[in-house]
Amino acid sequence: MLNLDKSHKAFAEAKLYMPGGVNSPVRSYRSVGSEPPFIASASGDRIYDIDGNEYIDYVLSWGPMILGHANAEVVAALQEAVLRGTSYGAPTLLETEVAKKIQAFMPTMEMLRMVNSGTEATMSALRVARGFTGRDKIVKFVGCYHGHSDSLLVKAGSGLATFGVPDSPGVPAGAAADTITMPYNDSQAIRGLFDEQGDTIAAVIVEPVAGNMGCVPPVPGFLETLREVTEEHGALLIFDEVMCGFRASAGGAQKLYGIIPDLTCLGKIVGGGMPMAVFGGRKDVMSCVAPAGPVYQAGTLSGNPIAMTAGLATLSVLQRDPTIFRRVEAATKELCEGLERLGEAAGVPVTVQRVGSMFTLFFHDGPVCNFDDASVCDMEAFKTFFHYNLEHGIYYAPSQYESNFVSVMHNPKEIEKTLAVAEEAFHLLK
Ligand SMILES: *Cc1c(COP(=O)(O)O)cnc(C)c1O
Repeated sequence: MLNLDKSHKAFAEAKLYMPGGVNSPVRSYRSVGSEPPFIASASGDRIYDIDGNEYIDYVLSWGPMILGHANAEVVAALQEAVLRGTSYGAPTLLETEVAKKIQAFMPTMEMLRMVNSGTEATMSALRVARGFTGRDKIVKFVGCYHGHSDSLLVKAGSGLATFGVPDSPGVPAGAAADTITMPYNDSQAIRGLFDEQGDTIAAVIVEPVAGNMGCVPPVPGFLETLREVTEEHGALLIFDEVMCGFRASAGGAQKLYGIIPDLTCLGKIVGGGMPMAVFGGRKDVMSCVAPAGPVYQAGTLSGNPIAMTAGLATLSVLQRDPTIFRRVEAATKELCEGLERLGEAAGVPVTVQRVGSMFTLFFHDGPVCNFDDASVCDMEAFKTFFHYNLEHGIYYAPSQYESNFVSVMHNPKEIEKTLAVAEEAFHLLK
């Protein structure tokens, strides 16, 4: 039995000071009905809690740590950078270096701006889209998460063209009123919507590989349809690649599926584990952003030299060694095929969905194509599986609705150990 005494005490104390004891809700383990280990350190593919337990980490800070934790080159770059001061609020050479590096991976980012979180990136991209088109309405998809800004925090309703109802108290109805939610992977529905009101829509924002209802790839034709109808009606297509950028492929989902969005949002990996994100794309659109243009956007710590350093070091390693993407993907593929095989062998209905190095094991019989599919998964089976794994040193995301990630530090031995634990867990569920 896993000893989490210190973590339980720490959680009780944290709850006195922070809502739910955490600074981001999913960390609280509420969705699996338990309490989280408190983390002391991490290295490579391992994460260690304050009770001295060791886990093979498939959360990887919710995606960023593709090189594994505490990569030597990233750490060395950061140590040097800190000695030069941690923030100036003035231009640096680093920012242009990072911009060039990002553009090398994603040439559609003709011009870009650095911000501090994925939330900021999507929120700002929408403002630019609205400013550029002079239109107010935006379209998002049920089950896609784009951070917690007001107009994007809209109830994942079912049915077609559900008009925005705020997902949270504190979001004014007005802030969500211009948000139209549509079912993911439904090309026909989106065509219908654009036939009716396409000329009033500023932008469609989409996770081109959905990761926030679990990993759900786009069905053939879906992204193509989005590209087509937005172009036809003068709306912008925004790819939120905060999660799938550098995961779906080196060039993100846009490279993998061959679709050119007008704007792209990046986060997670791009900051190498520091608070940093980016939005950018077409030069004519990005030229609307202040001070080049009238659409206001700013940030005291944006382009922060420490965050830039972590991002630059991470992207440099990735660029120098293109085999990393192949290796991470191969390891993820092996793990996913193993999980599916073992589930089937045990007679447990599971579907493992993967794109590049992100994946979800769904306790669902058959493919998960949208939020409705995801929401009928066997949550009790997920909880049992999750807890057994945690107790045996395998650290998965504590929710059926999340993606898991693999790093270049996950070796065949770790994958083998992970599969051995999975096999035992599946047998519990028989
Ligand atoms: C994580 C995530 C965000 C939000 O990023 P934060 O840095 O948490 O604000 C936005 N979009 C997608 C697709 C994400 O996965």
